[in-house]
Amino acid sequence: MDVSYLLDGLNDRQREAVSATEQDMLVLAGAGSGKTRVLVHRIAWLIEVMNYSPLSILAVTFTNKAAAEMRGRVEKLMGRDVQRMWIGTFHGLAHRLLRAHYQDAGLPQNFQILDSDDQQRLLKRTIKALNLDEKQWPAKQAGWYINAKKDDGLRPQHIDTYDPTEQTQVQIYRAYQEACDRAGLVDFAELLLRVHELLRDNKHVREHYQRRFRHILVDEFQDTNQIQYSWVRLLAGKENHVAIVGDDDQSIYGWRGAQVENLQHFLRDFPNAQTIRLEQNYRSTATILKAANQVIGNNSDRLGKDLWTDGIDGEPISLYSAFNEQEESRYIVSQIKRWQEQGGALSDVALLYRNNAQSRVLEEGLLYSGLAYRIYGGLRFFDRQEVKDAVAYLRLLSNRNDDAAFERVVNTPTRGIGERTLGLVRELARARQLTMWDAARAMVSESLLSGRAKNAMAAFLDIINGLEDKCVDKPLSMQTDLVLKSSGLLAMYQAEQSDKAETRVENLKELVSATETFVPTGEEGMTPLAEFLAHAALEAGDEQADAYQDAVQLMTLHSAKGLEFPLVFMTGLEEGTFPSQMSSGEPGRLEEERRLCYVGMTRAMEKLIITYAESRRLYGQENFHTPSRFISEIPSEFIHEVRVQTRVTQPSAQRSRFHTGASHEAFSQTGFQLGQRVLHQVFGEGTVLNYEGTGPQSRIQINFDDVGSKWLVVAYAKLTVI
Ligand code: ATP
Ligand code: MG
Repeated sequence: MDVSYLLDGLNDRQREAVSATEQDMLVLAGAGSGKTRVLVHRIAWLIEVMNYSPLSILAVTFTNKAAAEMRGRVEKLMGRDVQRMWIGTFHGLAHRLLRAHYQDAGLPQNFQILDSDDQQRLLKRTIKALNLDEKQWPAKQAGWYINAKKDDGLRPQHIDTYDPTEQTQVQIYRAYQEACDRAGLVDFAELLLRVHELLRDNKHVREHYQRRFRHILVDEFQDTNQIQYSWVRLLAGKENHVAIVGDDDQSIYGWRGAQVENLQHFLRDFPNAQTIRLEQNYRSTATILKAANQVIGNNSDRLGKDLWTDGIDGEPISLYSAFNEQEESRYIVSQIKRWQEQGGALSDVALLYRNNAQSRVLEEGLLYSGLAYRIYGGLRFFDRQEVKDAVAYLRLLSNRNDDAAFERVVNTPTRGIGERTLGLVRELARARQLTMWDAARAMVSESLLSGRAKNAMAAFLDIINGLEDKCVDKPLSMQTDLVLKSSGLLAMYQAEQSDKAETRVENLKELVSATETFVPTGEEGMTPLAEFLAHAALEAGDEQADAYQDAVQLMTLHSAKGLEFPLVFMTGLEEGTFPSQMSSGEPGRLEEERRLCYVGMTRAMEKLIITYAESRRLYGQENFHTPSRFISEIPSEFIHEVRVQTRVTQPSAQRSRFHTGASHEAFSQTGFQLGQRVLHQVFGEGTVLNYEGTGPQSRIQINFDDVGSKWLVVAYAKLTVI
């Protein structure tokens, strides 16, 4: 059999890794050196040359997008489909295992996944129920604490502490976990921990999978946490083979419990593993690669790697200093347009930022200029308020014990069930150890509520029960449609008079189409609805409506890991934004930010553009920043400054650059300046974007925070500077 096609397009080191005999392996190498490519070819090699069934291979990646891509690449290489091979994220695989072995895992069959939003809500309620002061015990911190403990494999009973603060945290953890267990809810960290316990404590389950998965391959191994790594070990047993690939310089999830030390632990736990290093970078121009190597060189504690390329030098890295975030966004848009004019595709462009909140201004700029864009993470479809409302109805329909869903929809749309009534329901639920649903039923049947409240609650229970009857044997999309109508959600958003309401109605309709196109796998014990709900919780963001449209890609630096784009913008390179405020005091966290910078830079194939803003309004507050230290870590020979940095105190020189008509002097007579924040009596707060004309005729363009951009006649607009 000619298998040369499996080795084509690989260098010697890569071939060695792909065609290795059966053994454990660590591929340790820098960005863009072909680690993921090696994994893909190795999988094909195992199947085609070593005759392993696709069923005996387990491949783990970091995002759903990466998993889908890996499957696609394997299939393309082999020319046939490998649908039955397990490729997924740790969370996705955990979900699958728990569905299959829910009894052994101590879960009800219809358990639901609790996303981080729901987790916050549940924590708030738990903290309240414990009569703790919410200010002193914020739900957010409790969430961090609990997730961190779960990532370390610790249950409340494992935590022994004399520290009174921690004792209270453990108390919250315990109460929260009891609430989850009662309602059949599993948070993200719990998914991983449950599977760990399942494999550890159930010999037959463990041995079943040990017999099945002969080869385990893990991409981005530097970002596994302790629990994930212990799964790998449990599944590997004594006989199976593990191949991991990773790069210590790209470890960026330490804040979420990832342990880069796992790379060393692997060598300790798999002493026969062969280490293979790849040193040639195939992704970026020499300029970008050298600049990135310089930046990461400032970190201590590295395993150390040399990366070189025989590619061209390419263009210098552009550095643009913007006056504020609006101007930064405009500059980026202008550069994307240039790229497009020169024949570049929009999907080849990525805008990267440190925080999700930074995307809004960038989005506005793109929207305003009519450039299509997609967002990964953050504003995901399934995260939107109205979609979550509708999904909560579906969840309650699927599982009455889902307290989080109950709380979300019991009075949405408003049906006269107030906080007071709900308080009573919660109290009864606590006192009798009932779920909210059962407590509400008891309150109605035992007439524990006043007349009106009782009727309102009874009506709500009827809606849900009635929906169940109507939905029997109906396809999923019809069930969803029924839910939207019978619940009153659709009518509520239709009646709302705002720009947002229209999009919300569209989103609800989009949800029906999402259920129409959703293909359930038909797994045993899972209704299509249950499968869809898991999909909504786990795979949110992977299936946006415009997935196939040519569009600019927006994402956080974290979610860009593993990806590559010809043109990359790294935005918001300011002290306090990136590196983030929180990290600047702590050396360990600063190094993690620097690795994130390295990840960002090495996403770029042809051209990297770095931007920063001297002043940035974020979360409603304007702040002045100095350029990020990472900029100064790039040798100046690799940088082209788009223009001399101008100070905020002398803005005239730069601001006159982008006005369209009148001279700067004429405009300044109006009393306004570009980039200024103004208040309009009807439209609220906004930022001055542009102007044209002079005298009484002059018009001014303002980007309002709530209603978007509008042209106004200065003389009539009644604007106040704020
Ligand atoms: P990261 O650390 O960012 O995840 P990686 O090490 O996984 O990067 P890949 O994504 O596998 O790198 O490869 C980077 C790019 O280089 C891809 O476009 C890939 O197709 C290409 N590439 C990898 N190996 C070779 C090779 N031997 N010849 C030509 N191109 C290659
Ligand atoms: Mg990779």
